[in-house]
Amino acid sequence: MSEQSAPSTQSVFRDGLLRGQVALVTGGGTGIGLGISELLAQLGAHVVLASRTAEHVEKAAQSIRDAGGSASAETLDVRDPERVNGVVKKIAAERGRIDVLVNNAAGNFYAPSESLSPNAWRSVIEIDLYGTFFCSQAVLPVMKTQGGGRIVSISMTLHYRGWPLMAHATAAKAGIDALTRTLALEWAPWGVRMNAIAPGPIPTEGVRKAFTPPPAAGGQVPDVFAAEKAMESYARKAIPAGRWGTPRDIANMVAFLASPAGEWITGAIMVVDGGEWLAKNPAPQMQRP
Ligand code: NAP
Repeated sequence: MSEQSAPSTQSVFRDGLLRGQVALVTGGGTGIGLGISELLAQLGAHVVLASRTAEHVEKAAQSIRDAGGSASAETLDVRDPERVNGVVKKIAAERGRIDVLVNNAAGNFYAPSESLSPNAWRSVIEIDLYGTFFCSQAVLPVMKTQGGGRIVSISMTLHYRGWPLMAHATAAKAGIDALTRTLALEWAPWGVRMNAIAPGPIPTEGVRKAFTPPPAAGGQVPDVFAAEKAMESYARKAIPAGRWGTPRDIANMVAFLASPAGEWITGAIMVVDGGEWLAKNPAPQMQRP
């Protein structure tokens, strides 16, 4: 395999590894969440894909069923604890259990903090951080009753050093890391394992849209995803492993944590980024007046 080729989509895990399990993946209809849903279904779990847009989750659940997996779709906004609780109760009533929760739903965009509106700030903090808490809290009674479960939240690495124009998302993900460690301690006695994954850059459609600079930004916002050529050269320069990440890279870590191999892992934040953050790449430079 050349240094930059994408990993195989063949699963490295044994067939039926998660047979009989039920997984709930927020934001499971697109990007990284879809990659996670596909792998968990491939390993035998029934996967419930949940997000705001019916088209996203229904189309993705259908594609998983077409490939021979078991999947269903629910619409919800992770910011709405009543709806989250309703969906969790429905899954538990229909399926009898929830073994795995993946808190993957998030919102993000580049914006100077100086002019970030209260609504924009609130929206990202509420989707990423409140949503992670509401979903985790909602599945806890189900996991307690069945003797345990696995919660995996998708974080990031940009708050390790700070990242201009992303005050909202870096603050939210730092909160998710704190929540991961605290809930790991609180919920361990009930057999609930609480971990997070910090992905490096993965050029999903969602990321491409979120990071295409608005015309008004006057070039202040770096458009690293602008062209395939620029992307390749960024990957060669900035990612020691020499390639961009894929949803499957993250899905593999979720499957590992959900499997018996993850039994003794809790409160961990697993960095899956080809070494990007350690390589000390310069953060986007702000223009001086
Ligand atoms: P994406 O495709 O845009 O995924 C975001 C998902 O969240 C969408 O499926 C969206 O579906 C759902 N969502 C957004 N707001 C929601 C809400 N209020 N309630 C329920 N669902 C909501 O982007 P992605 O790149 O795959 O990102 C997935 C995760 O990886 C995120 O947590 C992101 O922060 C993290 N991450 C990504 C990268 C990267 O480079 N791609 C790097 C580090 C971390 P609907 O629109 O249907 O609601």
